[in-house]
Amino acid sequence: MQVAIAGAGLAGLACAKYLVDAGHQPIVLERRDVLGGKVAAWQDEDGDWYETGLHIFFGAYPNMLQLFKELGIEDRLQWKEHSMIFNRQEKPGTYSRFDFPKLPAPVNGVTAILRNNDMLTWPEKIRFGLGLLPAMVQGQQYVEAMDKYSWTEWLRRQNIPERVNEEVFRAMTKALNFIDPDDISATVVLTALNRFLQETNGSKMAFLDGAPTERLCQPMVDYITARGGEVHLNAPLKHILLNEAGQVSGFVIRGLDGQPDSTVTADAYVSALPVDPLKPLLPEPWRQMDYFQQLDGLEGVPVINVHLWFDRKLTDIDHLLFSRSPLLSVYADMSNTCRAYADENRSMLELVLAPAKDWISRSDEDIVAATMAELERLFPDQIPAPARLLKSKVVKTPRSVYKATPGRQQYRPSQRTPIDNFYLTGDYTMQRYLASMEGAVLSGKLTAQVVSEDGVAIAQSPTTQSVPSPLAS
Ligand SMILES: Cc1cc2nc3c(=O)[nH]c(=O)nc-3n(C[C@H](O)[C@H](O)[C@H](O)COP(=O)(O)OP(=O)(O)OC[C@H]3O[C@@H](n4cnc5c(N)ncnc54)[C@H](O)[C@@H]3O)c2cc1C
Repeated sequence: MQVAIAGAGLAGLACAKYLVDAGHQPIVLERRDVLGGKVAAWQDEDGDWYETGLHIFFGAYPNMLQLFKELGIEDRLQWKEHSMIFNRQEKPGTYSRFDFPKLPAPVNGVTAILRNNDMLTWPEKIRFGLGLLPAMVQGQQYVEAMDKYSWTEWLRRQNIPERVNEEVFRAMTKALNFIDPDDISATVVLTALNRFLQETNGSKMAFLDGAPTERLCQPMVDYITARGGEVHLNAPLKHILLNEAGQVSGFVIRGLDGQPDSTVTADAYVSALPVDPLKPLLPEPWRQMDYFQQLDGLEGVPVINVHLWFDRKLTDIDHLLFSRSPLLSVYADMSNTCRAYADENRSMLELVLAPAKDWISRSDEDIVAATMAELERLFPDQIPAPARLLKSKVVKTPRSVYKATPGRQQYRPSQRTPIDNFYLTGDYTMQRYLASMEGAVLSGKLTAQVVSEDGVAIAQSPTTQSVPSPLAS
């Protein structure tokens, strides 16, 4: 069966990968000239990489880890010590650690929390532990039911002092969805905590050893094309064509550089677009359907990824750091954490700026200046002097992952749509891993499964026909 997939982010590529595994022929059509969507990366004029986002892989990512294994690239994940490291607010330039001992879950997580006395008091730890019991005992059903509350509302309901937000959870909600504890759904934080506390290596972190475009997406493309699939860049979906039965009869691809538009026809069609660009492309007759109307409840959240190259080493920490700064979320010295960016003499900090709504339309100069001001607190002995900033790069994503405010779960669509031969994939579609790389890969796998299940019926339907792709080289 031929399957046209619009979008070459992790979800679109994973969908294509699992479709070739099932014996189908996917053709992936990507709008931009770069693979990866929200994990896309580019090289500057000096050959230095810059990325859409600082990306962390977790032990609690079974589908992603399985994918690395299937691609034969497991050695590209650089696992770090099992710790979570926070900047200390009261002692600039110092850190507080949650170190997970080599014990089974949940003992390792509980020990890590109990042993840290810098951030939470004993009464706070006890209240928090008691508050978390229903999530641990009742599991995902309870976690899903908490989607009606923000994280702060949930803390209040559980009689947990709100000070824990300032100490730990503001940093965590900014890392999870680029928003604050008052805005994020309790389901998001509880889902992450459940995975981290119930799986022995759930919160263990890894960095990819280089740019995701080269080190993860390209091996997926090689896998797909070696098995008869196709991946095309610079192929934006412009229009979804319908036949008289209301099914998809083709994807119209916008011609670039004066080229005419072309139409790709297939047996089945998948949107691997993020939810925001998908909405305006929905054909008029579909807009009245409840299934497609629910997408109006989802919207991407802004985020900014800042890269700063310095003339010297600022730190030798080989890990992700939670800044606990009002402006910044997590950051890392990529010259320590990532083989391809390694430098013994100079630091390259990659920092996530969130919440970014007040910054997304500001100039790169303003953003770098504000980031440098924050770094004076994180590196008081080095910034503003003697360390010198050599260059910087700012990557803005005005609509990134869907904003996970309370009540969003009900708007997340299934991968199967009411249209016989049209499917959705992407991190925003319903799967248990929220908006993450793991969620994107799992959604791609789930979509490939339902396409395959429906395949026989689709292939036999008189209203679909298989025509060779005009983009095929
Ligand atoms: C700053 C930042 C930090 C992050 N950190 C982490 C992290 O540490 N850990 C983690 O697990 N996740 C993280 N994420 C989230 C993760 O990157 C995403 O959840 C995941 O990559 C989304 O994949 P996707 O395939 O669903 O969507 P996308 O990656 O958005 O892919 C969609 C693709 O569709 C293409 N497209 C759009 N319109 C069209 C069109 N008309 N025609 C054809 N193609 C089109 C886009 O160009 C894109 O390539 C982070 C994201 C950001 C932005």
